Amino acid sequence: MRLDDFDNSINVEDQRGSGFSLGGAGGKVGCGSIVIALIAAVVFGVDPGQMLGQMQGADTGQVQTTGGHTAAESCNIDPLSHESCNALSSLNKTWGPLFQKANIAFTPPKLVFYSQMGQSGCGAAQSAMGPFYCPNDQGIYLDTDFYKEMDQRLGASGQFARDYVIAHEYGHHIQNMLGTSDQIRSAQQSNPGAANQLSVRLELQADCYAGVWAARNKDRLDPGDMESGLNAAHQIGDDTLMKGAGQRPVEAAFTHGSSAQRMQWLRKGLETGDEDQCDTFADIKR
Ligand SMILES: [Zn+2]
Repeated sequence: MRLDDFDNSINVEDQRGSGFSLGGAGGKVGCGSIVIALIAAVVFGVDPGQMLGQMQGADTGQVQTTGGHTAAESCNIDPLSHESCNALSSLNKTWGPLFQKANIAFTPPKLVFYSQMGQSGCGAAQSAMGPFYCPNDQGIYLDTDFYKEMDQRLGASGQFARDYVIAHEYGHHIQNMLGTSDQIRSAQQSNPGAANQLSVRLELQADCYAGVWAARNKDRLDPGDMESGLNAAHQIGDDTLMKGAGQRPVEAAFTHGSSAQRMQWLRKGLETGDEDQCDTFADIKR
């Protein structure tokens, strides 16, 4: 997919090299250094902001990009970050106007980069969780190392497969903005027996929304993009993941939908480009 360079208005937070990556103990060490840095700053009359940046950078041996740094600086750290920022920017430009047209309030989500461990409004972020969306702070949490995992372990490679991941998480933001996630959460509370099935429907809808975004940027798709997206949807289907882990696929344990379902809903979005077609709840409403 040929996406434009990201717009500087995108909302990006960077937790890489912030000390979170070292886990709890590292965090504490980081805090101690901050106190020392501040004392030193007061004593020596150094700009505390500059001092903090240097101290934290020294802690982890990485460039410190949290706070005070622009989205551009965080996005330009490496090609995968850059690509993710481009996808976010394109998603904002696609979904923003649709909400405006429907007269529904819309705030673009933020993209939060972290490495191994991070902090989200929904609790600790860990790479093993894979990319996720936190409704409490409207953040899409991403450790770009996940893409290596996708490529090497899950057999889902290619730029469009990665764009699909961001677009899927963005789909959860759409659900949050529309109030769908809240409705489903209360339905799950009043009917715990259907909780799993309902969460699968939410996931499939996010896949469909990802397809709608791609369809609305059709002229930017390269040959093979749709296939690479559909392959990714197949590879991360619950039955395929369970088989890959040496388990027998059990539908009751599905959380995101089978490979066939995920491909079906991504394709529906891709083919129609119409978000109204993404009603994955239709058959259970009746
Ligand atoms: Zn999801």
